[in-house]
Amino acid sequence: MGFFKRKEKIPPVRKKWKITRKCLNLILEASKSNYPKEFGGLLRIDKIAKDTIREVMILPGTVSGDSHAIFKLHMLPIDYSIVGTVHSHPSPFAIPSEADLDLFNRFGKIHIIVANPFNENSWKGYDYMGNELEIDVI
Ligand SMILES: [Zn+2]
Repeated sequence: MGFFKRKEKIPPVRKKWKITRKCLNLILEASKSNYPKEFGGLLRIDKIAKDTIREVMILPGTVSGDSHAIFKLHMLPIDYSIVGTVHSHPSPFAIPSEADLDLFNRFGKIHIIVANPFNENSWKGYDYMGNELEIDVI
């Protein structure tokens, strides 16, 4: 009661993405073992639970420097279970670069960036516009 009326905030209905702990651990391990180079991979969803990332396809020939170069988009297999990308940043910042945003914009629905020190708290998910997405670890 009082002068202030509470406004109910209705959250927009959005698809909530999930990732299996096993898959996340694999991503973190690959990021660690490639450090100080960047690691890049493709995210695949479960055939039945289509909101759950269950597999990572590690891309060969990771390069240091511009993460853009990791993803040779013309070489991607035609596979509709691939929903996006994952790559690591040797820095402690899981923030997409200009090149990352350009990549997100051209390919996929969900993108993960893993930053140093490559643990459960140092990664973030983004949509194709570079907006942060919440991803549940299951
Ligand atoms: Zn990046």
